[in-house]
Amino acid sequence: MIKFHPSEQQLVEYVAGDLTAAMLMTVGTHVDMCRHCQSHVQDIEEKLAQRLFGDVTDLPARWIANADVMIDEIINAAMPVHRSLSDSDNYLLLEGKRFELPATLARNYHRIGSWHKMLGKMWRAPVDLGSGEVLNFIYMGTGAQVPEHTHRGTEATLVINGVFVDESDEYRDGDFVLLDGQHKHTPQTQQEDCLTLATLDAPLQFTSGISRLLNPFSSLFFK
Ligand SMILES: [Zn+2]
Repeated sequence: MIKFHPSEQQLVEYVAGDLTAAMLMTVGTHVDMCRHCQSHVQDIEEKLAQRLFGDVTDLPARWIANADVMIDEIINAAMPVHRSLSDSDNYLLLEGKRFELPATLARNYHRIGSWHKMLGKMWRAPVDLGSGEVLNFIYMGTGAQVPEHTHRGTEATLVINGVFVDESDEYRDGDFVLLDGQHKHTPQTQQEDCLTLATLDAPLQFTSGISRLLNPFSSLFFK
């Protein structure tokens, strides 16, 4: 059961194609994984179509279908990605494990770079959006921990598979977590590993003891 969802505002911006490419991909992947947000997105699309075309109940069905096509075009224009999928585009392989990719990520498989080991039991693979934004897969093996940090900008994390915890909660498949400078946290895994998709709009700021010495480590999350 997914506990954490994008905000109403983010879903509206997702439908309107107003999000940055990194956020579009992160929110879009959440929507792939979340029935609740799928039906919410459908409502927003209908409302948007109503605003653009008037009362849709008076319109022939093909006009409504056209509105859907138009919304798709808005989203695709913001993130032009068209390629036929091959079977191997549907999953990631790492540490002998196979992770199924939700549709939005599978469509963007060719943007996923190779895996690099970071500190401890953490791996990172960048997603190249061609926009200069930072979007990474972060894989944490079991018993891995990111030093406590705050955020100068906004960090959005989506759990693709597995579970991680921090001081305030537990996050599982599909959970979408948005954190800013107000939040201080220490994400970690316990018995289960965790694959996440994470976007940051400014470097992490490590706050506790020796991990302050690790501040250059934040650059590992970037390029
Ligand atoms: Zn949701």
